[in-house]
Parts: sequence; structure tokens; C-alpha cells
Amino acid sequence: MTAGKRNTAQLQALDAAHHLHPFTDHRDLGGRGTRIIERASGVYLWDSEGNKLLDGMAGLWCVNIGYGRRELADAAHRQMLELPYYNSFFQCTHPPAVELASAIAEQAPAHMNRVFFTGSGSEANDTVLRMVRRYWDLQGQPQRKTVISRINGYHGSTVAGASLGGMSAMHEQGDLPIPGIVHIPQPYWYGEGGDMDEGEFGLWAARQLEQKILELGVDRVAAFIAEPIQGAGGVIVPPATYWPEIQRIVDQYGILLVVDEVICGFGRTGEWFGSQYYGIRPDLMPIAKGMTSGYLPMGGVIVGDRVASCLIDQGGEFFHGYTYSGHPVAAAVGLENLRILREEGIVDYAREQAAPYLQQKIAALAEHPLVGQVRGVGMLGALELVRDKRTRERFPGKGAAGTLCRDLCIRNGLVMRAVGDTLIMSPPLVIQPQEIDELFDKAWRTLNMAA
Ligand code: PLP
Repeated sequence: MTAGKRNTAQLQALDAAHHLHPFTDHRDLGGRGTRIIERASGVYLWDSEGNKLLDGMAGLWCVNIGYGRRELADAAHRQMLELPYYNSFFQCTHPPAVELASAIAEQAPAHMNRVFFTGSGSEANDTVLRMVRRYWDLQGQPQRKTVISRINGYHGSTVAGASLGGMSAMHEQGDLPIPGIVHIPQPYWYGEGGDMDEGEFGLWAARQLEQKILELGVDRVAAFIAEPIQGAGGVIVPPATYWPEIQRIVDQYGILLVVDEVICGFGRTGEWFGSQYYGIRPDLMPIAKGMTSGYLPMGGVIVGDRVASCLIDQGGEFFHGYTYSGHPVAAAVGLENLRILREEGIVDYAREQAAPYLQQKIAALAEHPLVGQVRGVGMLGALELVRDKRTRERFPGKGAAGTLCRDLCIRNGLVMRAVGDTLIMSPPLVIQPQEIDELFDKAWRTLNMAA
């Protein structure tokens, strides 16, 4: 089998010699070598050995419209010929950035009307940190610098992104978090709820925010940041009591609410944004991934009127921006992606058809002896594996059961991700019922092999 001009073994050898992979223990690549994904269509991937895999993760939670949409390639091609690059600094802009900002504002909650463009979700969260501090400076409260975040949240890999995130493994490498970022417990009832019922635990977890605000002093707290549903942390769906209580607390103390929509945005929950699913009112929403369905890198921050009017009316220059903020080709692709999502009714399809069916199938997996809890909202799902369903006893060897199942999934032609012993899924929104059947047939087969 060939991959381009070189065969699989040659590519693997070059990869082993020259490629430093993100989030990878390279010693794990020693045995069979890196899997080389060559092409994709719809919800399927093909590797260089000819294996066909159902992509239960939409790449990295991003290929919302599915693979192989020629319209996006055509939009990129047209834009590259017309204007491959120009910036939106220095009193300039270009049509794709303007059109995309306005299309996103149209789709966003009514009080959010501006978009600041970045190259990724991590850069979006760097922007968030700078923006909230700038906002409080302009409000005459420069001491309000601290951002409260959550343990096991994920907000990216840059220094600010990893600091805002609550991944201890990331913090341990590189002396993070940076000062001015503190973390509170996550709303992870199944793992950390103790004797509390789910609703009670949701209130308890939300009130950790209030407690932290009071401990630090309200006049030192700039913002609270969280994902609507923690994705990389293991698809942690908060109890129904959680978000309304968070909203009450941020309103009461007047701190900014940042809702990280990098995964949940652009239809993943069955609504355009996770904030709309939970009925919450963010001041800032970092976005990326589904914004271009991953066809080109792009991110941004959707900025609510409270912050935007302050930055614009009182701000002077905000010394922040990226060479590729609003890159014309990425913006043209984003615009075409948005057109497809809207005109083909993909978010409605996800909400009304795909998600109810997917969630029904996830719920059925709760019967499997290895599955302690199933979780899911919209087109997100998780299966938490335990040794003993009754006592919630974990398997020995942290994450070993998850890794085993993930690898068995691949053997069965399915891509799922393992976060510790939790298997997670986030398929393209366009997945069809018979493909959902196939996904779950493969998941059941995998769990039966592992049992
Ligand atoms: N925020 C969330 C919620 C994410 O899930 C991610 C990536 O997975 C990021 C931010 C970082 O985005 P990126 O990898 O594009 O920098």
C-alpha cells in the first residue's frame, strides 16, 4: 500500500526520525509505528493500509459537517487566487473577515455582536485572558485580575490556555499555572459526588465558585471560565442545577462569564452554542474547531456588548492580535462552512434526529457489565468503564482499560478516544442513523472483547 509516493513503512520511518508529535509518548509509537490516515469522506477515514474507520470523534471534535465537502475546497481555492493573505490591522480589513464576523454575530446570542479572530482555540483563550484584564483596567479596577477556572477543564496548550485549563499533567510540565489563575472543583458527579444526589452536588460544585470569589475578595476577581460540557476532561456533563447557579453567582458578583465554546459551538449540543443549550448568558465565547469544521485552522472570541462597548468606547488601542487574525482563506472556508450548516439544516438535523438516536444508543450501553456510567448531550457521549458497577471500583492501572478499549475499537474499525478509563465520542453532526447503528455495533463488540 502506498501513501503518496512513499509506502507506509517508509513514512513511518521518516515520522519516527523527524516528527515530534503533540500529546504523544513517542515510546508508544515503537511497536507498530504511527497510523497514517490518508483520506476521508463523510464520517469515514482510510489509513495507508487500506483500513476503513468510522470516525466517532470528528477528527478532534471538529469536522462537524463531515469530510470531503468540495465546496470548502473550492472556497479556499477561489480565495487563495483572489487574496491569499492580508491582515485586519492598521485600518484595513477584507471581505471574508467582515462577512464571517457578521455571519457569526447573526448566529450568536442577541447580546453578542463582535468577533475577534485568532488562529486556534488556544489563541482564543490567550485573547480572553488579555481581554478580561483589559476590560477591568478600563473599568478603573486594575486589581481585578484573577480568573477562576476548573480542575480538569481544558482551554488549550499555550501558556495561558494551559494555565486556564485545569489539567494537572500539563501544569506539572512547565511551572503552570501562571499567576492570577485559580481552579475550583469540576461538576463531575459520578466520580466526585460522594453521597450527594446529583442535583445537590451540582449546587455544591457551583457554589465552589462563590466560595472562591469570597475567599479572594470580589474586587480581585475578573472572570470565571468554563466549558459548557467538559470535553477533553472526559465529556463531563454537569448536573442540571449547575449552570443556573453559576449564572446567579456571576450576576450577583458582577464578574465576567467566559463560556469556552471551542467544542460545544457550531451545533455540537444540538443548539448553535452550548450556552444556548444551557440558557446561560456569557460575556465572552472562545470558538474554533466547528467554526471551519477543521478544514483550516481558525479560532476567535465572540464578544458580548458589555465588553465590546467598553473596549471600543473607552479603550484606545488594545495591543493584541495575530498575523493570522481573520486569515482570508480560513475566513472564506468558515463562511462556506456556516452556509452549509445553515442551508442544509445540519444543526436542526443534529438536534431533532441524530442526537436523540445517538443518546438512545448511548443509554443502552449502560447495560454493559463494564460500563459504570453513560453520559451525553447532543452529539457528545461518554462511557465510563469500571470493574464493579455497584461500588464504582476502578480498574487497576490508571487508564489501562480505556487504552485497551480504544485500541480494540480501532481493530473493529471505529475511532473513539480514551480519557483515562472513559471512552468518548463526538461524531460528525451529519452522521446518518445506519452509521450510528454501525458505531454502536462496533462499540458493543469492543466492550464484549474487553470484558
Ligand atoms: N478550548 C477547548 C474547550 C478545547 O477543547 C480546545 C481543544 O481541544 C481548546 C480550547 C484549544 O483549541 P486548539 O487546540 O485549537 O488550540
